[in-house]
Amino acid sequence: MLETHDLTYRYPGAALSFRFPDLQVAAGDRALLLGPSGAGKSTWLHLLAGVLTPAGGRTRLDGTDYSALRGAALDRFRGRNIGLVFQRAYFLEALTVTENLALARRTAGLPPDTRLLRTTLEGLGIDRYADQRPGRLSVGEQQRVTIARALVNRPKLILADEPTSALDNRNASRVSALLRSRAAELGAVLVVVTHDERLRGDFPRVVELSEPAPAN
Ligand code: ADP
Repeated sequence: MLETHDLTYRYPGAALSFRFPDLQVAAGDRALLLGPSGAGKSTWLHLLAGVLTPAGGRTRLDGTDYSALRGAALDRFRGRNIGLVFQRAYFLEALTVTENLALARRTAGLPPDTRLLRTTLEGLGIDRYADQRPGRLSVGEQQRVTIARALVNRPKLILADEPTSALDNRNASRVSALLRSRAAELGAVLVVVTHDERLRGDFPRVVELSEPAPAN
């Protein structure tokens, strides 16, 4: 269960402060956070990911208040519990697809698991690229590798920032379906932030963000 309570954020020196709606999403369930560009969606996602520290409020995953964690403890928590998918894929280009996934496990302090890497790639229909460099794949294929990397730590929370915005209709619906099916299979919470209206029908719960309020 992901729960947020009274989450606020203000960029240093900025005139606007963000106050985000409270979220409660059960394990295996999903939510879509929709809003126009500039509404603060990425900021929200970075708070949920523990990449930004909230000015106020709490983020809890299965009862752990991770907004209270800092430094190495937060890094460890994130590495083991949270899988991140961004709009554009970021990989180490010197490494193959499989090596990039293996690195994600190692960075999180988890033991190697060759079989899990293989079955994850198979589940996403990209096992034939296991030994290739990610840069040689199409944008849609790279996005599936990004999802694979987010899954190899078997996270409790999967967060995706505009995962489909750069994709055509066919790839967008495929990526959306894969995110939903894999999250449900893992029993993970799935939260997607986007302005991509194509995703609306894929999520039983849609939270809409409006413009941020002036700080005072
Ligand atoms: P969205 O993802 O909905 O487009 P963002 O969370 O990226 O929105 O940004 C919302 C607003 O927050 C931006 O319009 C900008 O004014 C402000 N903002 C984003 N990042 C920073 C930053 N690093 N420093 C200062 N202001 C920022």
